[in-house]
Amino acid sequence: MLNTPQLPSYLSKENIGPWHIYLQQVEQVAPLLDKSLLPWVDTLRRPKRSLIVDVPIRLDNGQITHFEGYRVHHNTSRGPGKGGVRYHQDVTLSEVMALAGWMTIKNAVVNVPFGGAKGGIRVDPRQLSLAELEGLTRRYTSEISSMIGPDKDIPAPDMNTNAQVMAWMMDTYSMGEGRTVTGVVTGKPVSLGGSLGRQDATGRGVFVTAREAARKLGVSIDGARVIVQGFGNVGEASARMFAQAGARVVAVQDVSGTVYNGAGLDVLALKRYLADNKTLLGAPDCETITNDDFWSLPCEFLVPAALESQINRFNAEHIAARIIVEGANGPTTPEADAILAERGIVVVPDVLANAGGVTVSYFEWVQDFSSFFWTEDEINARLERIMAEAFNAIWQMAEERKMPLRSAAFVIGCSRVLEARATRGLYP
Ligand code: GLU
Repeated sequence: MLNTPQLPSYLSKENIGPWHIYLQQVEQVAPLLDKSLLPWVDTLRRPKRSLIVDVPIRLDNGQITHFEGYRVHHNTSRGPGKGGVRYHQDVTLSEVMALAGWMTIKNAVVNVPFGGAKGGIRVDPRQLSLAELEGLTRRYTSEISSMIGPDKDIPAPDMNTNAQVMAWMMDTYSMGEGRTVTGVVTGKPVSLGGSLGRQDATGRGVFVTAREAARKLGVSIDGARVIVQGFGNVGEASARMFAQAGARVVAVQDVSGTVYNGAGLDVLALKRYLADNKTLLGAPDCETITNDDFWSLPCEFLVPAALESQINRFNAEHIAARIIVEGANGPTTPEADAILAERGIVVVPDVLANAGGVTVSYFEWVQDFSSFFWTEDEINARLERIMAEAFNAIWQMAEERKMPLRSAAFVIGCSRVLEARATRGLYP
């Protein structure tokens, strides 16, 4: 008789990090899947491979210091791994595994031919100079170089990484290969094979799915109140697009605090103020409110665009939004999901709402391979079509099977992954 295999440590019930939340979501979707796929569900519970690397760098003062980095391939059944690289002082292997798992499902939801991957370094990048950041990025890229490649795993920007970081990653990888390999990362500067429209793509996708949800629910965007948590690449772009469409962005929260203006904040002015002052607080024409008060503001749209687990059992009861559009990955805990469903608040889930970024990453990867670049209008039109179609398929399944949008998105995404897995069969 076979011994019962010991569970890997990251499956332990004591671990309540993001990976545990991802696992809970998989448990919820498993009974909803076609029975033929059930033998393969365990695939979703176990990342294919995870790498932990030491990243030593020399600081400007000559001292040597070490950081811990990660790259996880969660699943590659549908194609090469794909997902961003996050620099944050709280990054853990559990978080990167969860983010990689969500990438697997997200890529399947919008049907781009990628598996799911993610990387990160446990570092507060605000403490590093530009030269130190470059050194960190280059050493990390070199350490994970056996995992990445244009047909293997393609990193991209995520929290606190940007086009410049991608340029350093592309250069480091290319030096190792002895040739320029633009397709090894996406989210690059346009001058190095990046795609037009990539910068705003995640925010645009958030806005498009919000607009589709509003249509279904009979909510007008014109004059709607919007509150946004996180004012980075995703939060800022989606706030700007809501404002352009006539909505009032009444509150924005980031690590520095929360600013409010009932008549609507000037999003562009706020972006400039943040760039100049490194804080939202003190921006003209707005007042400061507490971070707790932010969550209970009455609004039509709430866009969480920061870290995981921000909407949880402590604040879900107080949220006074009609529609939540998840710009962040994993911003809502399963407990909060249940409370929100009970209260009739519609949640457009992360694996759909923020998939615009990776969709345009896919366009960038295709453009790099063919060395033929598209216009921004073409890119935005294709992005809008993919997002709207994915939204409508999920909405329809949610109606027909009377389930929340997250469950419908997971059923569609997980089914695509597991069908590919089952059809490929087991090696050897
Ligand atoms: N970091 C983004 C995400 O979480 C984009 C990933 C990509 O473009 O590969 O979806």
